[in-house]
Amino acid sequence: MSRIDTPTHPALIDNFGRQINYVRISITDRCDFRCVYCMSEDMTFLPRSEILSLEEITRLARAFTELGVGKIRLTGGEPLVRRNALWLFQQLGRLPGLRELVLTTNGSQLTRYAQALRDAGVRRINISLDSLQPARFARLTRVGDLNKVLQGIEAARLAGFERIKLNSVILKNRNHDEVTDLVRFAVEQELDISFIEEMPLGVIGDHDRAEAYYSSNELLGDLQQSFELFPTTETTGGPSRYYRIPGSDSRIGLISPHSHNFCDSCNRVRITAQGRLLLCLGQEHSMDLRQILREHPDDMPRLKHAIVQSMDLKPKGHDFNLQEQPVILRHMNVTGG
Ligand code: SAM
Ligand code: SF4
Repeated sequence: MSRIDTPTHPALIDNFGRQINYVRISITDRCDFRCVYCMSEDMTFLPRSEILSLEEITRLARAFTELGVGKIRLTGGEPLVRRNALWLFQQLGRLPGLRELVLTTNGSQLTRYAQALRDAGVRRINISLDSLQPARFARLTRVGDLNKVLQGIEAARLAGFERIKLNSVILKNRNHDEVTDLVRFAVEQELDISFIEEMPLGVIGDHDRAEAYYSSNELLGDLQQSFELFPTTETTGGPSRYYRIPGSDSRIGLISPHSHNFCDSCNRVRITAQGRLLLCLGQEHSMDLRQILREHPDDMPRLKHAIVQSMDLKPKGHDFNLQEQPVILRHMNVTGG
C-alpha cells in the first residue's frame, strides 16, 4: 500500500522524520512596494501565463489538505494586489481539513479587504512593518506610504482576527535603532511582533547584506534595555522564538535564520508563483507541480502522488552565507516569504 492510501499514517514525512503540515503559497510575484531587502528597484515580473491560475492554486491546496496539511499561508509578492485574490481566500476557507488559513501582507490594501478576509475564514494575519517613521518607511519600501499601512493595521484590528503579527526585517544602520519603538507600538496596539534577520535571496542592488546584518542577539540586548523580556516555549508553528513582556499579551518573536538555525524542526514547504514546489527556502530542491496541474488537470491522485514523492527531495537545511554573492538567485517575492 502506498503512503497516500494510509489515512492513519501522516503522508508527508521527509527523510529526516519531519512531518510537513504547513504550506506557504506565493500567489503572485507582483507587489506595490519594492522593499530594499526583497527586490531590486527595477524588477521584471513574470508573464501571466507562467503564474498559477487561482483555480490551479485551489486544486493544489486541496491536494495538500488531503495529505494532512492543516495550515496554508498565502503570500507573495503582495497577495492582495492579485485580481480576485478574495475569491481564492473564500475557496480555501471552505476546504475541509484546513485548520488555519493565514496571510502575509504589506498592509497596503487592508482598509479595503480586512473584513472580507476575516469573513472568508482567515484567522491570523501577518503585516510587514519595518519603520514607524514615514520618510524611513518610504526609503525602505522604496515607494510605500506608512499612513496607508497604519490604516490597514487599524482595519485589521477592527475586523477581529484572532491574532495579528507585525513582521519587521531589521537592517543595521537602516532601522535597527527602531526596535524599541516597534515593540512599544505592538504592545499599545495589542499585536504580536517578530523581528527577522535578512536572508540573502536574490540580487537587490541596494546594500551589502553582510554589512546590514543585525543579529537577533544584538536586537534582544537592545530590547532588554527597555523591557523585561521572558523567553517562552510558545510556538505559532513557525520559526519564531517568542518572548513576553509582563502585563502585555503581545508576543515578541525573533526569526534568526543566521544566528539560530531552525531547520531541524522545519514543518513546511513553499510553492512559488509559478507552481514550483520548493522543499527549502534556502536551497533549490524543487518539483514542478504546474506541469502536472496543466497536463493532467483532473488527476488528483497523480498530483498527490508527486507531492508525496517530493518529500524525498527535502534537504536537511539551508546554507545561507552572507559573505558570498547570493547563491539563491530567486527573490523573496517569487518564493513567497
Ligand atoms: N508582500 C507581503 C509582505 O511584505 O508581507 C508578503 C510577501 S513578503 C516576501 C513576506 C515577508 O518576507 C515579509 O515580512 C518581508 O519582510 C520578508 N522578507 C522579504 N525579503 C526578505 C529577506 N531577504 N530576508 C528576510 N525577510 C524577507
Ligand atoms: Fe513587496 Fe513584501 Fe517584498 Fe516588500 S517584502 S517588496 S511588500 S513582496
